[in-house]
Amino acid sequence: VKDRGGSAISALTSDDHERLSRKAHIEKRLIYALDRKDLQLLYQPQVNLENGKVERVEALVRWTDSEIGVITPDELIPIAEENGLINEIGSFVVETVCRQLKDWKSKGIDLQISINSSIHEFRDKDMAKMLLEQLKINDCQASSLMIEITEKFALEAEAERSIMTQMKSLHQEGISFALDDFGTGYASFRYMLMLPISSIKIDQMIIQSITKQEKIQKLINGMIQFGKSLDFQVTAEGVETNEQFELLRAMGCDSLQGYIIGHPMNATELEKWLG
Ligand code: C2E
Ligand code: CA
Ligand code: CA
Ligand code: CA
Repeated sequence: VKDRGGSAISALTSDDHERLSRKAHIEKRLIYALDRKDLQLLYQPQVNLENGKVERVEALVRWTDSEIGVITPDELIPIAEENGLINEIGSFVVETVCRQLKDWKSKGIDLQISINSSIHEFRDKDMAKMLLEQLKINDCQASSLMIEITEKFALEAEAERSIMTQMKSLHQEGISFALDDFGTGYASFRYMLMLPISSIKIDQMIIQSITKQEKIQKLINGMIQFGKSLDFQVTAEGVETNEQFELLRAMGCDSLQGYIIGHPMNATELEKWLG
């Protein structure tokens, strides 16, 4: 962005300029990267505490651009949500994951993959169609897919209705949904009741403070019991220490995810890790 003086632009600080031009650069390079499908997915294992097995992995997007370098999801996703490229990232993720499911199936590896999706992606009517198409092309069962949804903003009534319709039809096909970042998002309770959600994922910010205060332990325990009493599967994310692991197990958490179990890995690394 050039400062032409006199315009509103001149009110921006040089920090603003830097941020804007980085954003513009990211947008430009993202279009190019998506065109060439030049993003990667890593898979992070989740342990089912009932049987000690890894039955599900979460797909997490990674992008290293040759000009910009590493762009973390925390920077990438909000930009993509703003400019609408999130739907193309979503398509890339779905395609890659379905192909991965097919590949693992041929190798006798039976895993469910969960993908991340902003609830806004379901505003696009093509999302559900594309998902079911990709599953079909790759001969995958819908039950092999879970979708973790997050919500940072309030939805208008109309958007809410169309999102609900799409999610319900996917749920009927056998896809399961989890409410991500539980304890931090917007209107979580409302979505728990309204949408076809079977799991909640307690956010890592909450999990990582578990050992600090008795009050926080009680809060997390309350969240777990609350979720279970409504028949949700409860997963804790960001579990880093043995102490956290043991506390969450004792509280009856259904599954755990975090560095103490395994870092996000590419498909080959994960296959080795599984042994
Ligand atoms: P999230 O869904 O809450 O994912 C968990 C994040 O915590 C991931 O960060 C993961 O790498 C990291 N993590 C996992 N275990 C640990 C741990 O033990 N300790 C700590 N400190 N961190 C841990 P990541 O991969 O950077 O992703 C950040 C966020 O970006 C995700 O948060 C998710 O909301 C979003 N995201 C990632 N991939 C996608 C995607 O394909 N589509 C969409 N829409 N969002 C995505
Ligand atoms: Ca997630
Ligand atoms: Ca989270
Ligand atoms: Ca998140």
